[in-house]
Amino acid sequence: MADNRKLPAERTAVLTGAGSPRGIGRATAGRLAREGWAVAILDIDGDAAKAAAEEIGAQGVKTIGVAADVSDRESVNAAIQEVESAMPPIFGLVNLAGISSPTEFMAETVEGWDRVFAINMRGTFLVTQRVLTGMIERKMGRIVSISSISAQRGGGTYSKVAYSASKAGILGFTRALAREMGPHNITVNAVAPGPIDTDIMGGTLTEERKAQMSEGIMVGRVGSREEVAALISFLMGEDAGFITAATVDINGGLQVS
Ligand code: NAP
Repeated sequence: MADNRKLPAERTAVLTGAGSPRGIGRATAGRLAREGWAVAILDIDGDAAKAAAEEIGAQGVKTIGVAADVSDRESVNAAIQEVESAMPPIFGLVNLAGISSPTEFMAETVEGWDRVFAINMRGTFLVTQRVLTGMIERKMGRIVSISSISAQRGGGTYSKVAYSASKAGILGFTRALAREMGPHNITVNAVAPGPIDTDIMGGTLTEERKAQMSEGIMVGRVGSREEVAALISFLMGEDAGFITAATVDINGGLQVS
């Protein structure tokens, strides 16, 4: 197979769930923009997606913010169509859209279970499949999806079984898709963060909660969204062409503590 590692100068990264101002996605969008990517932000909250795109566009790169419910195929198709008609070709995708679920297993309902899987898992499937058509044609692509330490350790964080199972699904998805996409020069990887200071665990973390969550973390603190953004951006870059089917941990040592 040809050794084709070069990313084109004109390229778009699509990020799902990157609207929220204190989220990992927003930080990742900013980081990718600084590294030369045009950035398309998809979020269930269209106003937040547009605000994020405007903020990042001030860095002098092309951006677009589009409302999309990742769990709905029509919504995803319409959003990606809009991105494709307004932006440079899509060479990168970061699947970040997700919801937490603190419901303990014996209280879990079919509706609650399905909602977590619809967004965390089906959403990843739908957006990835839609953008892959173009990546396969262009014989180049980078896909990074966000799993969680919760998948590896079996919860132990804010979220419980449904979330853990959905994030474990991301790992199988990543490895199996990497196998199919390797011949197309497309890498597929997952990132598994430990507790990160965002609002997904039932609102903004107080200092007290952060201290509680830091117990068992070797470096003695929760992670920052910028630290996760830096890792994702490395996996999206040219130097990561020989990394695929990987799960990269970012958890301050929590997984082995
Ligand atoms: P976040 O700010 O809440 O990010 C999640 C984003 O997804 C939000 O902008 C949310 O929009 C959006 N979203 C929810 N449902 C959606 C849908 N149906 N379609 C499109 N977008 C949707 O939290 P985060 O911590 O940055 O989370 C980003 C990813 O990292 C998630 O997949 C999460 O599971 C994962 N993760 C986080 C941690 C952590 O400790 N923070 C650890 C491991 C993994 P709204 O805000 O409008 O609902």
